Amino acid sequence: MTATATRVLVLNSGSSSVKYQLLDMNPDSGGGPAAGTRLAVGLVERIGEETSRLAHTPLATGGDKRETEGPIADHGAALKAVAAELSADGLGLDSPQLAAIGHRVVHGGLKFTAPTVIDDAVLAEIERLVPVAPLHNPANITGIRTAQALRPDLPQVAVFDTAFHTTMPEYAARYAIDVATADAHRIRRYGFHGTSHAYVSRKTAELLGKDPSEVNVIVLHLGNGASASAVAGGRCVDTSMGLTPLEGLVMGTRSGDIDPAVTFHLKRVAGMSEDDVDVLLNKKSGLVGLCGDNDMREIRRRIDEGDERAELAFDIYIHRLKKYIGAYTAVLGRVDAVAFTAGVGENAAPVRAAALAGLEEMGLAVDADLNAVRSGEPRLISPECARVAAAVVPTDEELEIAQQTYALVSA
Ligand code: ADP
Repeated sequence: MTATATRVLVLNSGSSSVKYQLLDMNPDSGGGPAAGTRLAVGLVERIGEETSRLAHTPLATGGDKRETEGPIADHGAALKAVAAELSADGLGLDSPQLAAIGHRVVHGGLKFTAPTVIDDAVLAEIERLVPVAPLHNPANITGIRTAQALRPDLPQVAVFDTAFHTTMPEYAARYAIDVATADAHRIRRYGFHGTSHAYVSRKTAELLGKDPSEVNVIVLHLGNGASASAVAGGRCVDTSMGLTPLEGLVMGTRSGDIDPAVTFHLKRVAGMSEDDVDVLLNKKSGLVGLCGDNDMREIRRRIDEGDERAELAFDIYIHRLKKYIGAYTAVLGRVDAVAFTAGVGENAAPVRAAALAGLEEMGLAVDADLNAVRSGEPRLISPECARVAAAVVPTDEELEIAQQTYALVSA
């Protein structure tokens, strides 16, 4: 890496999409607010279809968003198209200013507890984890291989969704099932959204004017996927997702916690196949299963019109959230803040108000005026007298990946 190499390309490769951001980590700012300036952001969707779409926004030049549609056969072609867009703005991947490529990797198992420079052994280990992350790791591996082919000389770093949760004590991570069976098949609670939980818990401490080591935070990452975590002094001690991202909170399309016997019942009594049950619980459950919509804006609109199905779906969503807030208060013993983040957490004031309503005995309260404020900045929504702070803390997984990647390659 040259002294001027301060840029990091962040790649989040899904099965048919690639999200990317090019950031300048600008060390001259001394790690201050300027560190992590976005130069370009974009998305390739529907890879492998006739109607693939690339949307690219060159923030560095202040140019408009450029959208192109047409067949993009695979991830290799997608990344080449992204490279061409970046080159058009003078930000090409061949630039000596590019320090590294940071890849979001969903599952790092128990081995990867920190961001890791990718070599053949690391790639083989990520591949070994495919059986526990069949939907995600294969796409992440394709993204890494494609990026390696484009810039074989450049450090490629894997930042794992599971890493932040590897500090969970064994009694929180283990399911109460036969130990030999669990170990033979690596069945345990890994947790996901770790990059977001790490970032948001740190930012929450900053908002309180404290060091992360001094505060206990419950982070509620409420996007389409949703998870809660209990973070004690900067370390995760429990999280709601488990072996897969299906466990825990009610999500956009996933059921979250459910009696596992429901799956036997669906197979034995309803005659569903393994795949049918998988699709039901991952894609046709949660808010969409309960009321037909998974967008919280639409659900709120329907509730305002008196729609009872939407209202019941909302109530079930909130009830589960409350249970996790209560559980994690007990796990942590002392809670300094509850932080809401991601699409729903950052934008849906009614969800925040309902989730904390009636929890005054636990020191929690929401100030209606503060809760109504719309802003992209971290902010408190609790009244000054509340014993536990309630906060909205926008997440930024790409910045966190870029920071972790840059810290590793510039060390
Ligand atoms: P993911 O990254 O898991 O796909 P996001 O964190 O982007 O999800 O969250 C997407 C969800 O955020 C949407 O499905 C919608 O329910 C919710 N959302 C986004 N904007 C708003 C808003 N203004 N009000 C309420 N909910 C919103």
